[in-house]
Amino acid sequence: MGSYFKENKTRIISELSQWLSIPTISALPEFKPEIKRGTQWLSEHLEGIGLNNVEIIPTEQDAPPIVYADWLEAGSDKPTVLIYGHYDVQPADPIDEWVSAPFDPQVRDDKIYARGANDNKGQHFIILKAIEALLSEDKGKLPNIKLFLEGEEEVGGTHLEEFIKENSKKLSADICLIADTPMLGPDQPSIITGLRGLVYMELIVNSAKTDMHSGHYGGNVHNPIQVLSWILSKLKDENGKVLIPYFYDDVKEWSPKERAKINEVTMSEGEIIEHTGVRVLFGEEEYSPIERFGIRPTLDINGIWGGFSGEGPKTVIPKTAGAKVSIRMVAHQDPEKIEQSFKDYVTSITPKGVDIKFKTYSKEPAIIIDPSNKYFQTAVEALKDVFGKEPKFVMEGGSIPVGGHIKKYLDIDTIYMGFGLPDDNLHAPNEKFNLGMLDKGIETTIKFLKELT
Ligand SMILES: [Zn+2]
Repeated sequence: MGSYFKENKTRIISELSQWLSIPTISALPEFKPEIKRGTQWLSEHLEGIGLNNVEIIPTEQDAPPIVYADWLEAGSDKPTVLIYGHYDVQPADPIDEWVSAPFDPQVRDDKIYARGANDNKGQHFIILKAIEALLSEDKGKLPNIKLFLEGEEEVGGTHLEEFIKENSKKLSADICLIADTPMLGPDQPSIITGLRGLVYMELIVNSAKTDMHSGHYGGNVHNPIQVLSWILSKLKDENGKVLIPYFYDDVKEWSPKERAKINEVTMSEGEIIEHTGVRVLFGEEEYSPIERFGIRPTLDINGIWGGFSGEGPKTVIPKTAGAKVSIRMVAHQDPEKIEQSFKDYVTSITPKGVDIKFKTYSKEPAIIIDPSNKYFQTAVEALKDVFGKEPKFVMEGGSIPVGGHIKKYLDIDTIYMGFGLPDDNLHAPNEKFNLGMLDKGIETTIKFLKELT
């Protein structure tokens, strides 16, 4: 028997191609009209597949709007599934490294190539087509659906959190479903059981009202670059341990059994070395690479600036220097507490007479999914059925902040069931999505939704 995708292949590929051909780039202001065109296309498509109450909801400061739709005809005795996705995409440069143009989707070797093919248009298209299949062929088998797609994911917009906070009633549901994560491989299904949180900070060191001549003042004044270097060097030690007091206090301890399950997903040293070109791995010795990535917190300096770095010499002591620092947090760590300990510690190691200013860009807790959650179990069963193999549980090192907002304001869990592949070239030239994964993704999502009715 053919799958829904195989039976409708030409139409589905042509619709997805239309969707991918609209350059909904959120980072570049000149693409604003395309964002508008994209939200219009999307709302027509949502209406077309049979969803109700389709709305394009504007956001403040004329930022990309949120597109909402629902289908609440399953009845109040059936669960409500909230679906989140994002319709904005990354810029396409470097353009000349694309084999085919980024907004002229092409199918080669059973893969569709275009910006957004995976992230996130191809992925949320899977859910749209699963809903379409159930609405057109099997209406009694769809739970209640509430769906919202935002256009600021790629630029870290702040309007989404506001939207969720202010519309907690409108968005109330029993479970959230997001397709925005990769599988381990085409034949190895997997599902996310954890995502690290993120506290992202900027610190600015200031020592004077003006830049100073290093001959006239050197030896008598603090140099902010020097001070910044002292501070940064005291954030982490030579073994990869973060030195902020209380940093590890709340970190969840995992039982040997849980650690064995986590280590079923292999992430070999060789793989990391091959992907990155680093010569050696560096991290906490007592943990395997996959554990360092999934269940251990870490801190990284992401940028540093100050003084003169142009050609030739300039003997200057700058008045300010700055750095950006990201902290990836794990289960049970409280972002408020971590932010505060970071500020307190840095302030305590800053010398007298030097000012330090902080700016927080994000503050998201880690997410842990309890495998005994019944919706999670339903997803696992659906994956097993379609792929014919037990899915592996994956802890992700990255963060998807929306899951945290959904937990905080709607008090529901999220199932992260995505169908991308590790080599889909997200944010890079020649982004693609495998049609085989699209096919299996639609089948799995149909099964998942059906099972909830
Ligand atoms: Zn992205």
